[in-house]
Amino acid sequence: DEGKSLNFIEQIIEEELAEGKNEGRVYTRFPPEPNGYLHIGHATSICLNFGLAAKYQGKCNLRFDDTNPVKEDVEYTDSIQEDIQWLGFEWEGKVRYASDYFDQLYEWAEQMILQGKAYVDDQTAEEISAGRKTINEPGVNSPYRNRSVEENLDLFRRMRKGEFPEGSKVLRAKIDMSSPNMLMRDPIMYRILFNKHHRTGDKWCIYPMYDFTHGQSDYLEGITHSICTLEFEVHRPLYNWFLDQLTHTEYRPRQIEFARRNLNYTVMSKRKLLELVQKGYVSGWDDPRMPTISGLRRRGYTPESIRAFAEKVGVARREIVVDIALLEYCIREHLNKTAPRVMAVLHPVKVVLDNYPDQTEMVEIENNPEDASAGMRKVPFSRELYIERDDFMENAPKKFFRLTPGGEVRLKGAYIIKCERVEKDAEGNITLIHCSCDMESKSGSGTEASNRKVKGTLHWVSASEAIDAEVRLYDRLFKDEDPAGHKDVDFKEFINENSLEILKGCKLEPGLKEAKPGDRFQFQRLGYFCVDKDSQPESLVFNRTVGLKDTWAK
Ligand code: ATP
Ligand code: MG
Ligand code: MG
Repeated sequence: DEGKSLNFIEQIIEEELAEGKNEGRVYTRFPPEPNGYLHIGHATSICLNFGLAAKYQGKCNLRFDDTNPVKEDVEYTDSIQEDIQWLGFEWEGKVRYASDYFDQLYEWAEQMILQGKAYVDDQTAEEISAGRKTINEPGVNSPYRNRSVEENLDLFRRMRKGEFPEGSKVLRAKIDMSSPNMLMRDPIMYRILFNKHHRTGDKWCIYPMYDFTHGQSDYLEGITHSICTLEFEVHRPLYNWFLDQLTHTEYRPRQIEFARRNLNYTVMSKRKLLELVQKGYVSGWDDPRMPTISGLRRRGYTPESIRAFAEKVGVARREIVVDIALLEYCIREHLNKTAPRVMAVLHPVKVVLDNYPDQTEMVEIENNPEDASAGMRKVPFSRELYIERDDFMENAPKKFFRLTPGGEVRLKGAYIIKCERVEKDAEGNITLIHCSCDMESKSGSGTEASNRKVKGTLHWVSASEAIDAEVRLYDRLFKDEDPAGHKDVDFKEFINENSLEILKGCKLEPGLKEAKPGDRFQFQRLGYFCVDKDSQPESLVFNRTVGLKDTWAK
């Protein structure tokens, strides 16, 4: 990215590097909560954290923020690792978990009690919250705030042993009940939860809160830049306060906030995405309509396209909603360069070339005009073919450059044909289009007729060699630009019931028989498609990744 201006985080880093701060180290982390699959918003954070580490010869950790055993699951830790690796990033050393530090955090909590900086509070959650008051007036001290160190230590140890029920006691930091920052009004450090943890099992029945955990974990890992989203800006004084309780070294990680990147026509909160999965609005977290990384992967997105998207979206302190068209632009750009072109007919209608001999010949077609090294392939051509139903029109307007009665078109890579007559069924549907074939007009044959200009070029598939496939066409999952942005209407009200259209009996050129899940193609004139994980050798299934911006020869 030579010559590109620095984003505000890079500016901070470069100023610090110039001052020699942290001995020139840049060490970031990506800290997902394992309570759902990663989405495209997370992808921008991943690209940012891992990208900064790469740019400044630093490191980036993957750390699971697993302090809430109620919502967490190994399914999520597995999928998150898979997604980060698929995006092309490698974390430093082993995977970290906030739960790795539960012993250390507990020890630090006891130290804070010994220093008179933490106390056990017996108030209910409601009483604690009422005591904090509002921003306009100072809070009131808890009646338990002045417990002795001995009593606090004893109660905290017994909390750990499981002697008290959930909700009966918490450990609070003793900071300032009249702070203008509500988070500084004696925040909770530990709560009682009798929940099995996906890693520590039943070892703990008290769990540290995010604010007490996050900065201390950054400290333990030697993180220099703890990048998070803007809603944590108000947490920064608390982040720093907890770090100040560690008196061991001068080194301090630095929290830097940037604004979330959201996408229109979708929702991005894990809670809402989970609801779509649990209530069956989608087939799973990796449904190709989901804004999850696994959904985008299944849809046919490449890691390169998502990284390019993150780069284009950039980093700033201003929240933005990115147009989904930008994401689509990024995948189209990449697939245009890399995806082999093939022919597939999604809504087939049969054409017979009445004067063409009863034979199959092979025609040569280039695999990718954007990539000279992609070479040519041979495609069978014969007397009976399929074309798209809407590439033929009986009473066509003047601007219709496809097949019409008496009109001519070129079949891509093959011959010029002319429609002579059509056959119809009892309802008037066209069942067969009779054409004549100009036998002198074969593409690339060098004859005068082969250079003849006709207005339209159609894709086609030879009927006897064609293979059948199911093709799934996707549209936006929501009809509204900001489905979660309506005060009185649930986001699910805006679901687009027509976001999935399944086409059966599509006709594909026979070379696609070998296509494997994940393989990507351009179906000429139609868009980019990939093989779905549901696909079987005898019953292929394709997903439409994205349409073509400009369809050629229309
Ligand atoms: P969600 O709202 O989807 O639950 P979260 O912030 O609770 O998101 P985390 O698992 O905590 O999810 O996120 C891990 C990291 O990804 C955090 O640093 C978070 O700030 C960042 N992140 C999450 N959503 C976005 C987004 N839309 N844009 C940029 N970064 C994001
Ligand atoms: Mg979070
Ligand atoms: Mg969340």
